[in-house]
Amino acid sequence: MNTATPVVQIENLSYSYGTAEALDNFTLSVPPGKCYGLFGRNGAGKTTTMKCLLNLLQPQKGQVRVFGLDPAKAEVAVKRRLAYVPDQVAFYPWMTVRETLDYLASFRDQWNADTERELLGRFHLDVSKKAGALSKGQRTQLGLIAAICPEPDLLVLDEPTSGLDPIVRREFIETVIGAYQEGNPGRTILVSTHLIAEFEGLIDAFTIVDRGRAIVALDADQARERYKKIRARFAAPPPDFDLSDALRVRREGREIEVVVDGASASMMQRFRERNPEDLSAEALTLEEIFVATLQ
Ligand code: ATP
Repeated sequence: MNTATPVVQIENLSYSYGTAEALDNFTLSVPPGKCYGLFGRNGAGKTTTMKCLLNLLQPQKGQVRVFGLDPAKAEVAVKRRLAYVPDQVAFYPWMTVRETLDYLASFRDQWNADTERELLGRFHLDVSKKAGALSKGQRTQLGLIAAICPEPDLLVLDEPTSGLDPIVRREFIETVIGAYQEGNPGRTILVSTHLIAEFEGLIDAFTIVDRGRAIVALDADQARERYKKIRARFAAPPPDFDLSDALRVRREGREIEVVVDGASASMMQRFRERNPEDLSAEALTLEEIFVATLQ
């Protein structure tokens, strides 16, 4: 159990845009040093959550704490220690990449020039190019560099891979997260996405949000332990038996595949009693857990 003070703690947060309810009693706790995923479909409430952390929106109900502080009362103290990359990154179009980075560095207590050089090289970003002439993906790259160089304690990324070339997306995000956490395991990342496969292996823990509510919050390892896909093949089409506790059941000829949330041993036993030719169980990927949970 992690007893350290959470970097982000949200309790019973509700927020509506007029009559449109975006968050409904939402709860989230992000421990230090983790890469934490906030997973949800379009419109689930991810961006609204992040805006409440940054005091861009004020909670209408509930409580938000970042580093144990209320972002509405201690905005500067909170923002000093975090960097945010929104889903739509915007810069002054007349500034070059070099001028943009210098400008943003001027607001920060520290700036890692080595990391800046390394990432600029890796992304082949031309520092003399005007920000207004960058593609959407290049703007995201610049936003990520600007977020990492100040070495903040918390990095908040809203859909960081949207708009990026699918071929480079995964490697790109691994590079960014690697550069950020390198040599400092205390640094925390909160990343929102619905492209979960790209973060498989990087995510330590996650919350799935659906229609403004947190419906599952788990460590990634716990989740893989809990959610299993069980496959059985029988000599002849199997008789019907009770599978009502499975999250999903797929029957195809002599095969049955089920997805379970916990109690996989008792499900395996039920299959064994029916003498399958072949029986196997494997952990769901985080993306499969996301799909199974929201179905
Ligand atoms: P996406 O993955 O599509 O970016 P999201 O999970 O970030 O979605 P939010 O942007 O937080 O979702 O939106 C949550 C809900 O609030 C949605 O139903 C959305 O339509 C609504 N909403 C968001 N911003 C506004 C706004 N400015 N005015 C009215 N409704 C809004």
